[in-house]
Amino acid sequence: MCTNLRQKQYYIFNEPHTKEEYETKMKQLQLGSYVTLQYLVKKFEDFRAANAIYRSNKIDQCEGSTGHRLFNCKDAENCFELEEARDALRCLEGVQIKDCADCVSFGGVKTVAELGYEVQESCDFYNFKFCNFCYSKDNLEYCDECSNCSNCFGCIGLKNESFRIFNKKYPEADYHALKAKIVKHMKKNGEYGWFFPPDYSPFAYNETEVMEYFSLEKEEALRQGFRWEDELPTVEGVALDSISIQDSVTDAKDEITKQVFACEISGKKFVITSQELAFHKRMGVALPRRSPGQRHKDHLKERLVCHLYDRPCTKCGTPLQSAYPLIDRYRKVYCDECYFKAVY
Ligand SMILES: [Zn+2]
Repeated sequence: MCTNLRQKQYYIFNEPHTKEEYETKMKQLQLGSYVTLQYLVKKFEDFRAANAIYRSNKIDQCEGSTGHRLFNCKDAENCFELEEARDALRCLEGVQIKDCADCVSFGGVKTVAELGYEVQESCDFYNFKFCNFCYSKDNLEYCDECSNCSNCFGCIGLKNESFRIFNKKYPEADYHALKAKIVKHMKKNGEYGWFFPPDYSPFAYNETEVMEYFSLEKEEALRQGFRWEDELPTVEGVALDSISIQDSVTDAKDEITKQVFACEISGKKFVITSQELAFHKRMGVALPRRSPGQRHKDHLKERLVCHLYDRPCTKCGTPLQSAYPLIDRYRKVYCDECYFKAVY
């Protein structure tokens, strides 16, 4: 429960201890007690809010780049979690990329991923547009799950193919003529230039990760063309109040894995599996009283959204575009100069 330490050991709340003191105190902390664990978590949150110093943007060995968590990039604008990128715009989670915009989870494995627009979960490409899960080769548009393909349009599930439209093979000249005709038609209807429409998604809006980034109410999701699932899978059985879970993990018996509990925050039903019980006992950490979904939400609070906020350096007042929002939790957000002086 420390912040901003570098090359230190045996510290608790940033206070140094000898190895023996540390081991004794760790036993005294009683992480196996739910009540004690909650107290410590709250104490650490307060400690962190008062003391932790955050680096405004983590950008290392980059030139002309804005965003957060960038390494060895040049001219990456409004990008997040990129490595070895050249000329990228609004991209997320990429490595070895060049001339790409609005792409996510992509990059070069054997080569550089180049010329990508609205591409996701794809790699080793040249000139991909509006593609999903496509691996290797060039000149694909509106393709899904194709690998090692060239010059394909509106295709799905192909391997080692070329000059295909809606999976049908054409002579090269016919391919280009028909593709131009379709694109012209799509442009007329306002369809070209957008990623696959929402109703192509095999999942309902409320059962995917998108809710974690852009949460919508049912009515709004439906209005935007997404599906909504009213009956998400749930745990069967009558739920006990989660307060009935033993405070100390050492007191929990195997029978607990046969019971159903109600989450202390959301009220959703959840169970504690035998593997979870064994893990918590082994780690000496109290059993949860929140559903897995709620715990995931709690973790997400620690994750930054991909956005840059205007705020000054807390130390010197320099205006910044920071990945950290202006909320109480991030009281001390420093520019690089102030951060390195304070932390190193
Ligand atoms: Zn500063």
